[in-house]
Amino acid sequence: MHVLVLGAGQLARMMSLAGAPLNIEISAYDVSSEHIVHPLTQTVIGKGLENAIANADVITAEFEHIPHDVLETCEQSGKFLPSSEAIKAGGDRRIEKALLDTAAVRNAKYHIINTRDDFYNAIESVGVPMVLKSALGGYDGKGQWRLKDASQADAIWAEMEECITATDNQAIVAEEFVPFSREVSLVGVRGKDGSVAVYPLAENIHTNGVLSLSTAISDLELQAQAEEMFTAVANTLNYVGVLTLELFDVEGTLLVNEIAPRVHNSGHWTQQGAETCQFENHLRAVCGLPLGSTKLIRETAMINILGEDTLPQAVLEMDGCHIHWYGKEKRQGRKMGHINVCGDYSGELQRRLCALAGVLDKPAFPAVHEFAENFSSSN
Ligand code: ATP
Ligand code: MG
Repeated sequence: MHVLVLGAGQLARMMSLAGAPLNIEISAYDVSSEHIVHPLTQTVIGKGLENAIANADVITAEFEHIPHDVLETCEQSGKFLPSSEAIKAGGDRRIEKALLDTAAVRNAKYHIINTRDDFYNAIESVGVPMVLKSALGGYDGKGQWRLKDASQADAIWAEMEECITATDNQAIVAEEFVPFSREVSLVGVRGKDGSVAVYPLAENIHTNGVLSLSTAISDLELQAQAEEMFTAVANTLNYVGVLTLELFDVEGTLLVNEIAPRVHNSGHWTQQGAETCQFENHLRAVCGLPLGSTKLIRETAMINILGEDTLPQAVLEMDGCHIHWYGKEKRQGRKMGHINVCGDYSGELQRRLCALAGVLDKPAFPAVHEFAENFSSSN
């Protein structure tokens, strides 16, 4: 089997690593350079979308901000999974919100803003405080504003207006501020036959808008809610592949924040912590193979490595620690790799996270340090 991935980043790389034992070969298509590259070495192996499509049995994507003409061409080949509709829902918050409403899953109250009048109507209907997000192009907390009280409206409108005019078809989605107690996500997979398997929920800690620590959790009540929401969204899209729901936990009630129609950073823990990792399961689904078990096999947490290209040797020496580098050039704040930390039981995982805080730099790994500080003050 030969799978073409739209996008040549770390997710395509990890699909390639997971596909190799199943004889699934991956090539990656860099949408901006139009080069077909080897997902591990980035060596250019071909050029042009038509060429890439012709050599693939299946086409999938590692990100959602893909030009619509590229999506249409892939869809017309009959090889593309999930659908362009699903990718567009992940890349445009207007489509995403409409999808959540159609699937009848709880999400934050919202209002779409194209004009200044819309903005004032949003303040009326959604209320303050309010979170404002660009419909297109947002990620890692970029393209967002917070309106804490109505006196800030003029200043924020000036920035939003600039954002709307800078990009074709841009708009702003105003959302009620959700007073969540924590953020969790559900990674799951749906096969061609409609079968669904979901991983345990992960609890996610963000630092400056970027995921920094993600830990698989066990909560039967929340898990059941999330699984129902996942099935509703995946069935509405007739989805095939791995799909992620980012969720707010508001005192035991879940709301969907956003969806990612792909493998997700908060599912990287499955490489060591689950029977079948998210990358293998995505490939199984899009290749029409039976889904693998999503069972948790070890307590696991994932720590993102942001803007660093080396780690202390002590991390490699530590039991239960697995380093995954992405082979990228160092840049401030860039996702360079991650560490999966495992324990046979949750106390062991917690002790290992504390031990890691002892060897990792605090400014670069604030979430691990915060975990260790909270742990030592509560024990
Ligand atoms: P990603 O990189 O995950 O795609 P993003 O930049 O696209 O992120 P969101 O996930 O929608 O955007 O928002 C980023 C963060 O802002 C969330 O993780 C959450 O902490 C906070 N946030 C978003 N929407 C709301 C809301 N309605 N109420 C409160 N906090 C919110
Ligand atoms: Mg998000």
